[in-house]
Amino acid sequence: MRHRNRWCAAAAGLLLAAVAGGVTAPHAAAEPGTLQGAVIAIDPGHQLGNSNPRFARQMAQTKFNGSIVKGCNTTGTATNAGLPEATFTWKVAKRLRALLQAQGATVVMTRSANTRDQWGPCVWDRGAFGARQGADLMVSIHADGAPSSGHGFHVIAPGRIAGWTDDIAGPSRRLARSMIAGMRQSGMQPTTYLSSPLSVRTDESTLNFSDVPTVIVEVGNMRNRADAARMSSAQGQQAYAEALAAGISRYCATRLRCR
Ligand SMILES: [Zn+2]
Repeated sequence: MRHRNRWCAAAAGLLLAAVAGGVTAPHAAAEPGTLQGAVIAIDPGHQLGNSNPRFARQMAQTKFNGSIVKGCNTTGTATNAGLPEATFTWKVAKRLRALLQAQGATVVMTRSANTRDQWGPCVWDRGAFGARQGADLMVSIHADGAPSSGHGFHVIAPGRIAGWTDDIAGPSRRLARSMIAGMRQSGMQPTTYLSSPLSVRTDESTLNFSDVPTVIVEVGNMRNRADAARMSSAQGQQAYAEALAAGISRYCATRLRCR
């Protein structure tokens, strides 16, 4: 069954390439990717409209997340030059989607635009998104707003909360370790301002509402000059996307968790 699905995915890719008039590289669709059959959910953190006063009522919604009561979503941080976190995560997410699709994965995203005319979705809907879409895992992309002297990435995994995350805490921890290894292998430096690149937290709604293995990746510190420079360039955004893709591939390949 699995084999047939893979063949179908490859055939569909060939058909799409033919329809697109050959924009895909020759033979690319016929080469089996390491993520054939996997369904990957990407959550590009925040949304530009979260800071739009027009949506104050929507943003004021709150919900208990198994640990504490939290708001719908926040506006996120920004570089000192003014690149919003929402825009950065959106750009990296689109690049990551392309990389995963090139390996044969089906990719679903929690938002379909980056605009001041939209808000959210709320963190509880982001969290529930992966299971609703039948995803094998969800990676939430963020960038931190820490003191400017610190730089580097860290990964947040859900702690165990009975009736909430006890089903996903173990595999999420394995996903977190794969993400850390994949990012390191891609040349990304782990955080210099936390004691470990792995944080386990019970207060993150995006994680607590998930029913598939999930992590938040804070890919760097937007307030740090070097991290901000990388985040602001197309090459840097591509490098972050490649590092995230390496982590996801590593998880799917070594754990045989993805279809
Ligand atoms: Zn964020």
